[in-house]
Amino acid sequence: MQFHVLTIFPEFFASPLSVSLLKKAQDRGLVACHVHNLRDYTADKHRSTDDAPYGGGPGMVMKPEPIFAALEALGRRLERPKRLLLSPQGTPLTQQKVGQLAAEQTLVLVCGRYEGIDERVRTVVDEEVSIGDYVLSGGEIAALVVIDAVARLVPGVVGRQESTRDESFSTGLLEYPQYTRPEEFRGLRVPEVLLSGHHADIARWRRRQALLRTRERRPELLDTAPLSLEEKRWLAEQGLSPTYG
Ligand code: SAM
Repeated sequence: MQFHVLTIFPEFFASPLSVSLLKKAQDRGLVACHVHNLRDYTADKHRSTDDAPYGGGPGMVMKPEPIFAALEALGRRLERPKRLLLSPQGTPLTQQKVGQLAAEQTLVLVCGRYEGIDERVRTVVDEEVSIGDYVLSGGEIAALVVIDAVARLVPGVVGRQESTRDESFSTGLLEYPQYTRPEEFRGLRVPEVLLSGHHADIARWRRRQALLRTRERRPELLDTAPLSLEEKRWLAEQGLSPTYG
């Protein structure tokens, strides 16, 4: 899987891409991350990437020319790149969307800054993606969120693929509670079932904990989570309707 990032702050990516899972994934050739400086695609001597907004108002707007030039240059080199614009106005990034993006070969991530990007850039991207209902000062952190979440789903990047299959949102639910050694810590014991070695009991306990946790923290997820009849009955027995509200 290839990621190409267009940014005016390429140095932003040095540390996050050089540690832990993303570093290992690149070292093993599973993921390649290329960061391109938008200033390399400017034509004026000041290498300008922004200008004042037409119609007045505060701040600066990113100019279309460097972004068009960079996307065109990449378009000539890459096979079927999916071009994403990071934007608070985009489609919310969910685990489902992350799964769809992980099926692509090449993602190009365009990072905005300042007051945003000239509207005409929207005509040359495939999709706008938002990482949440808040405003960041630039698209770089959002691009890193996309890279991290998508790379984890590339086969081989996460040690055991089951760990991405069971985790929060992948099953439509939040994940069950996790414990490690010691068995007892400051009077807090690990639930007995996890020490039992009985795999079916452990699996049932985990599934039920995931249901309870989701009902408690994100009840709206239960509206769309695929629950069996038995699970719906079990929730009802706990006095918890499986529907939101
Ligand atoms: N004025 C813009 C608006 O109200 O929609 C916000 C511009 S923001 C300060 C600058 C850049 O940060 C955006 O162009 C975008 O690339 C990035 N950004 C900010 N919030 C984001 C979010 N929630 N998700 C993805 N990118 C975001």
